[in-house]
Amino acid sequence: MIGDFEVKDEDLAGRIAVLETKHGKLETPAFFPVINPLKQEISLEELRSIGFNNFITNSFILKKNGVIPNTIHEKFGDNFVIMTDSGAYQILEYGEIEQTNRDIVSYEAKIRPDIAVFLDIPTGNADDREEAKLSVETTLERGKEVIDIVDQNQDIIWVHPIQGGPFLDLVEYSAKEASRRASYKMLALGSPTVFLEKYKYDTLMDLIYTAKSNVSRGIPFHLFGGGVPHIIPFAVALGVDSFDSASYAIFARDNRYLTGERTYRLEDLEYFPCSCPVCSRYDPSELLEMKSEDRYKLLAIHNLWKIKEEMNRVKQAIKEGRLFEYIHQKAYSHPALYSAFKSMLKYSSYLEKYDPRVKGNVKGVLLFDANSMKRPELLRHSEFMEELSPKKAKALIICGDRLNSPFISDPKVKSIQGKNKDYDLFVALPFYGLVPVMASEAFPLSQFEIPDTLDEITISETVSKIKEILRNKNYAEIKFMECEKSALSHVMSINTTL
Ligand SMILES: [Zn+2]
Repeated sequence: MIGDFEVKDEDLAGRIAVLETKHGKLETPAFFPVINPLKQEISLEELRSIGFNNFITNSFILKKNGVIPNTIHEKFGDNFVIMTDSGAYQILEYGEIEQTNRDIVSYEAKIRPDIAVFLDIPTGNADDREEAKLSVETTLERGKEVIDIVDQNQDIIWVHPIQGGPFLDLVEYSAKEASRRASYKMLALGSPTVFLEKYKYDTLMDLIYTAKSNVSRGIPFHLFGGGVPHIIPFAVALGVDSFDSASYAIFARDNRYLTGERTYRLEDLEYFPCSCPVCSRYDPSELLEMKSEDRYKLLAIHNLWKIKEEMNRVKQAIKEGRLFEYIHQKAYSHPALYSAFKSMLKYSSYLEKYDPRVKGNVKGVLLFDANSMKRPELLRHSEFMEELSPKKAKALIICGDRLNSPFISDPKVKSIQGKNKDYDLFVALPFYGLVPVMASEAFPLSQFEIPDTLDEITISETVSKIKEILRNKNYAEIKFMECEKSALSHVMSINTTL
């Protein structure tokens, strides 16, 4: 059925899913390039050759210019999933527009895109809470109006925008109300562009989390204007399913060149760090010497390739259950992204809630620094340890830095186990804390890679974790073995008779 959304793979709170539309299945996470409806500077064939079978265009501009096709697909062709925006962005940029919500929605209902957005009021960067509240209330009223205007049996997926940023309580209210409206098969978070432009990526993470944690998990979730490759994986990890943006074109006009990690000015590049058809054919100086129209077009094509590549990287990371590692790595490419990462880690219990316990392809986890301790797998292990009841009155801790995993089969552990039958036996392990030897075959207690040299924070946080667990278990005696030369030797400073 149109609007059905079937989840195929999950990792953290992100997912690969299929959205059923009138013009076929759309795999998410998906990116909708913004297309000027009057003049396609990048042809639709070109768009398709890069790998986009979907785009978003502006119903307000079409209507304003008196373009009234029988259907939007009659104008652009049947082989694209087409989303229409409403002019809300124009309100954000230029203030009021001369169309009502009813005008725009009736027009969209007539030209029948696959996915349509009504004329919401973007909160933008409102400092004034009252103004932000008004944008939320008006958007909600207009959302109700749509239900009166359009035939509910129509095959359009209507999108309900969520407003209120930067006021998180308003975002929460807006998200809850929008999520309650069953006529809407898709939700979207409005106006993140203002935060992206100011590199306020941490605020953006707060907005996404607040909206996502207050809507139903099963509904596809769009982020308006979130179109730079470096932020996409963070948003996907929190559960964003689709994006749209004109940044590929706006940046190109300004000689800006996108990569997965940052944006370059073309003048600053001696070499292209990319092998797309544009970058394999030209070098930066050749592009700079071109007529501006030609250069603009080639840069826009490159930028689209980079966005497409990022979507594929994110999807592959989800398939492999490595989205956390991918984002962790990406966080180190810019301090603003590191802030986004840290902001996301505040929501690690939300990520853990949706992160599947069993993932098909994952052979092990890669652990790097103390941030890795916020991975869902490690949080889950800590919870398991908190709940574990002691079997014996005494505990024996073996420091595991040099043991073979799974620990239960390590000859040294076997021998210690044989001689200490009246002890609960644990291995002390960097990142994890304590691992019960009996459970050490469970994923990922033996399936991990850790650095040979550990940083101080990882060591001290692991030691604190171990001490806290031991304090709570009230063992009458705690014995340590193999710990003198271990990185975790400080665990021995806990009182051994409690
Ligand atoms: Zn390129």
